[in-house]
Amino acid sequence: MVSNKKALQMIDVISEMFPDAECELKHDNPFQLTIAVLLSAQTTDNSVNKVTAKLFQKYHTAEDFLQVPQEELENDIRTIGLYRNKAKNIQKLCRSLLDKFNGEIPRTHQELESLAGVGRKTANVVMSVAFDEPSLAVDTHVERVSKRLGICRWKDNVRQVEEKLCKVVPRERWNRTHHQLIFFGRYHCLARAPKCDVCPLFDDCREGQKRYKAKLREAK
Ligand code: SF4
Repeated sequence: MVSNKKALQMIDVISEMFPDAECELKHDNPFQLTIAVLLSAQTTDNSVNKVTAKLFQKYHTAEDFLQVPQEELENDIRTIGLYRNKAKNIQKLCRSLLDKFNGEIPRTHQELESLAGVGRKTANVVMSVAFDEPSLAVDTHVERVSKRLGICRWKDNVRQVEEKLCKVVPRERWNRTHHQLIFFGRYHCLARAPKCDVCPLFDDCREGQKRYKAKLREAK
């Protein structure tokens, strides 16, 4: 693993590459954001936005989502992956929101994580994006990038990655860094085809160099 100092230097470079990174899930309020994050599991924000453009016109509140049979909701979101599970989870979330919080999205981590279908990542995103509370959510991009750069170990779990990033990055930068790491993973250090040949972090990146050597071997 790289030192904390080196890790922050790398994150500074990423931050310069994507100074304006922000949440790409379209939403108008914390409730819509929470639904959008639930829908975003294993699919792109773009696909979610296409679905929610119509979905949020039809359903405005937790009650609205519970007034239709699950099959109807499935049909409304069927263009995105895992739509059956997601429809079920949205209705469970809405039920627990009404039971515990009068239909409003709560404003603490603990309360958010007490909701059906809301895990640590979703709670972190909602805290950070909807309420501007310092949080560093670790999604698939943040995890992959942090591991490739040696900021964390490959065997670290998501919680360990979060703890390490929170240690390395000053608290006031957590929210912005979360989006910058996502943009870096989404548009530059892609899962299948990272742009190592034009990467400003190449010299410090063991993964990039490993891939480069493998390419050279293939070319021989
Ligand atoms: Fe990602 Fe390649 Fe850059 Fe390393 S060198 S951070 S693997 S794009």
